Amino acid sequence: MIACLSKNLSPLSDGDLQQINQFTRRPLSKEEVYSFSLVLCDNEVDRQWERFSIPALKTLQSLFLGKTGIFDHLHVAQNQAARIFATSLESDPARVTEQGEPYTRLVAKAYLPRSQKLEDLILEIDSGIKKEVSVGCAVSHRVCSICGKDRMHESCEHQKGSYYPVKGVESLCYDLLDSPTDAYEWSFVAVPAQRNAGVIKSFSQNHSPLDIRTSLKDLCESLSPDEQASLSRDALFQLLDYISGLDRLAELGRCYRQDLVEQSMKFSAVAHPGLPGDVLRRTLDSMPMEDLIDFCNAFQAKAASVLPIHSQFSQSPHAADQKGLSPFQI
Ligand SMILES: [Zn+2]
Repeated sequence: MIACLSKNLSPLSDGDLQQINQFTRRPLSKEEVYSFSLVLCDNEVDRQWERFSIPALKTLQSLFLGKTGIFDHLHVAQNQAARIFATSLESDPARVTEQGEPYTRLVAKAYLPRSQKLEDLILEIDSGIKKEVSVGCAVSHRVCSICGKDRMHESCEHQKGSYYPVKGVESLCYDLLDSPTDAYEWSFVAVPAQRNAGVIKSFSQNHSPLDIRTSLKDLCESLSPDEQASLSRDALFQLLDYISGLDRLAELGRCYRQDLVEQSMKFSAVAHPGLPGDVLRRTLDSMPMEDLIDFCNAFQAKAASVLPIHSQFSQSPHAADQKGLSPFQI
């Protein structure tokens, strides 16, 4: 979601300074801070064929308060340049959107400390070079404007940006973004038109592996063919944990499979001594797991009928008696 820096660069009021100082470690003076206004988002359909509902903008108004601005969505502390200290909703009843709503936008005031390091940035804002920002947030609902299905949870046949007849009128298909759950950041973007500088599609923060798979599947299905998605840092770490867990399980699976092959080879040597070992190993290695288990059991039964097998862990009652131990004692 791309928005613009507002040209409303009015001098800092006492009220503004009071609000800014709620976010600072020590009270700053007017000379120490630079402030500017920006439009974070509105209820118009954007370049990615998405738009916020007015209630969603109201929720974002509180979610964006105190959030820091960064450069090009790089999540490192030194990139945090400015912080939002006030937000408001501005409505223009004289301007009606294509969807018939009064044009409404979320406006923020941000500040940054005046320092040598940030002088270039201040100059770029003042001169209009840094004039576009994008916002990243998560929403709970993405409703298809044509059929009303929530594309966070189910797919539909409509493509964003295409037109479909609705009650005899050709209507634009877009996603109505509703019920924001988190506002991650706002960012100065070097290439405003970049496809991924938009609303970060929600990847729900669940913790069971099944939920992660469901979230990923929902996310994939909600995207149109040329659309990109971004994941938050938390979501990426959650995915990394999930993959590491799968790696551990896969390793256990490999060990179990290898053990079944070795046991099958051993039992086969007794049950079918004529079978060439290398041929048998190749066959066992290429077998599906279920067949391998069946083969191992069958070879074991056959080997037991040829030659009674004792597990290396079993202990004869005679040996236990010799040591004065009961076979059931642990
Ligand atoms: Zn639809």
